Amino acid sequence: STNSSDANNVVRNEGTGDAEEPEISAAEASLMKKILRSKLIESTYDVEVQRNDPNSPLYSVKSFEELNLNPDLLKGVYAMGFNSPSKIQETALPTLLADPPQNMIAQSQSGTGKTAAFVLASLSRVDASKSFPQVIILSPTYELALQTGNVAKQMAQYCKEIRFRFAVRGEEVPRGEKITEQVIIGTPGKVMDWALRFNFFNIRKIKVFVLDEADVMIATQGHHDQSIRTRRTASWLSEKLATEGHAVALLSGDLQVDQRIAVLNRFRDGKEKVLITTNVCARGIDVEQVTVVVNFDLPVDQKGRADCETYLHRIGRTGRFGKVGLAINMVDGPRTIALLKQIEDRFGRKIVKLDAEDVDEIE
Ligand code: ADP
Repeated sequence: STNSSDANNVVRNEGTGDAEEPEISAAEASLMKKILRSKLIESTYDVEVQRNDPNSPLYSVKSFEELNLNPDLLKGVYAMGFNSPSKIQETALPTLLADPPQNMIAQSQSGTGKTAAFVLASLSRVDASKSFPQVIILSPTYELALQTGNVAKQMAQYCKEIRFRFAVRGEEVPRGEKITEQVIIGTPGKVMDWALRFNFFNIRKIKVFVLDEADVMIATQGHHDQSIRTRRTASWLSEKLATEGHAVALLSGDLQVDQRIAVLNRFRDGKEKVLITTNVCARGIDVEQVTVVVNFDLPVDQKGRADCETYLHRIGRTGRFGKVGLAINMVDGPRTIALLKQIEDRFGRKIVKLDAEDVDEIE
């Protein structure tokens, strides 16, 4: 398929009103994480390095200088505000920059510096005096490819000879022409077409091949959320709160990706303190600033039973990164009390009842 990037956009359904809200794809969750993050996250795990050759010196670097990077690239790294390598960069970069080149599979939490690491390693392998593709970076979707491209452009801001070409939907190369840019960043279908179907570049001259978010790229599609959770309620609630003078943001599946990014950016910047969302947000969003999650409706599956997995994902939005979190569930009768009981049973945890009349206790 030439449209593998589009296959992930499962959210863009055309329904109106209370259409069932589909789950977002792993790629979209990943994009949302990137948008919401503006700085490095300290990894809570130790970095483990596995190598084929147990005798190879396992060393790590504490500074970017030690990597003997091209001075213009180093300038770009500092211009991005990176003072020293993150944990994964300390251990991955020496291997990624080693000669002879080696393959590497790296896995760590999002926000720990992987993208910066592979971009840096890729750029340092580019021979800018040559005008043909030498690096391919594959991303699962159009939007993720653009994000990575922006990081690469920033890092290469002082390397004027390094040029980039996006192989994503909407980008075309005239038949018979050859690509002269050294770095290709794109989605799998388009890159495959350009390389193998149209021969726009010679794949044998590629020195670095990056599969970003490999797990997302190979993830099976069609894994649908059972939860029914609706858009109509979300928009009703946000209108209600807005008329009462609260600054609220609304995020739901009928938004286009760029609209969704705009909403998330405003929320992250604190322009709105309350984010109202359907299940679109239940998975994948890490907003460090989220202090309270309110379940206006408890998540239920199609049979009307408590959807405990979704509940866990939702309340997992608060209390991340070692902080204390608070989740509040709205209960309005025997049906919702029964749901809460199912959730308590499932997790073996008591959910404490707050007195709605006691404002002090609630605060
Ligand atoms: P990942 O790909 O693991 O999700 P990123 O490479 O996107 O992580 O990095 C997460 C954030 O941290 C980005 O905002 C990035 O600019 C920043 N960052 C990456 N490496 C460093 C570093 N060495 N020092 C400071 N900030 C960094």
